[in-house]
Amino acid sequence: MTPIEFRRYIHRHPELSFEEYQTAQFIETALAAEGISCRRVAGTGVLATIEGRGEKKRAVVLRADIDALPITEATGLDYSSENEGVMHACGHDVHAAILFGALQKLNASRDFEGTIFAIFQPGEECNPGGASKVLAEKPFEGYDVVAVIGCHTDSTLEVGQIGVCNGAFMASNDELRFYVRGRGGHGAMRDKLNDTVSAAATIVTKATGLNSDTLVLSIGKVVADGATNIIPDLVYMEGTMRTFDKDVRESTWKTLQDIASKVDSIYGTTTDVDINHGYPTVVNNIRLADLARSVATGVCQVVELEKRYTAEDFGFYTEQYPSLFYRLGVGTNAGRSHSSTFAPDERAIELGVEMMIKIALTIK
Ligand SMILES: [Zn+2]
Ligand SMILES: [Zn+2]
Repeated sequence: MTPIEFRRYIHRHPELSFEEYQTAQFIETALAAEGISCRRVAGTGVLATIEGRGEKKRAVVLRADIDALPITEATGLDYSSENEGVMHACGHDVHAAILFGALQKLNASRDFEGTIFAIFQPGEECNPGGASKVLAEKPFEGYDVVAVIGCHTDSTLEVGQIGVCNGAFMASNDELRFYVRGRGGHGAMRDKLNDTVSAAATIVTKATGLNSDTLVLSIGKVVADGATNIIPDLVYMEGTMRTFDKDVRESTWKTLQDIASKVDSIYGTTTDVDINHGYPTVVNNIRLADLARSVATGVCQVVELEKRYTAEDFGFYTEQYPSLFYRLGVGTNAGRSHSSTFAPDERAIELGVEMMIKIALTIK
């Protein structure tokens, strides 16, 4: 099976995060046909292993995500999604195909030192992130993992370009939820009530006041379902916070609790701050980023990328191992990812395979 055939099958049969049952089965069957050994990981993920020469404990890990999004496809492609309301709109089908193509070639030659692992990872799009589930199973225990390599399609880059960034590349993300509770009541009888609405408004002002060069914090939803003359018992709010700095991240969690307590002491309210921890920052190893730049010569044009406030569960790997996450151009005609018309240029797959192999084989 060619990587493009592999990609089209997965594209036609997309599955949501942590529900990649058919996808995992398909990958297992395709790997078995190539004589590549594999096993399940993180429920609906697949972990393939190829052994090369010499010290088998030296390991390079290649990673692709395999989940799709709750979007109804409108590309009109003849291999469009057959699962109503589900679509590979983030290019994870392309990532999986590139990984499959790389494994085919690596398995044919086996001309490398140590072991190559390949993770077809479930659930990138949904907390807690498939990467955290993979790592919780400690699949690389006893191995010396010298690098974890992953790439993501990018429709701001043309086919033939890759995007690389040193150090912090993608932000950590945490979901914020506030439940401001108090004794509501008649809006005209303020001495008899706790003004949950004013308390919530104060929290919004103080929390968004934390925005800085190193932190982005937004509250996107406020529900105070009272009326002109009714103060509600509960105001619910939710938002997101993102940063590239682990210390800023952890201190902000505490600061938000402190803000809520102070506001409660003024308004007599009781506020629960619920922080749903998302993905850690994606931090690229500079040595690996430089290696990607050098092996790209003659294959792809390298575009230096700025860090970005979007998040990726690849951050879990970068926390534990030297890692590199780079972007692969799929053409500006591909349209926006996470949209119903996203259609990456498949010519990027061959280049993606070549880049991934070159990086994997050049790591010292
Ligand atoms: Zn996505
Ligand atoms: Zn994605």
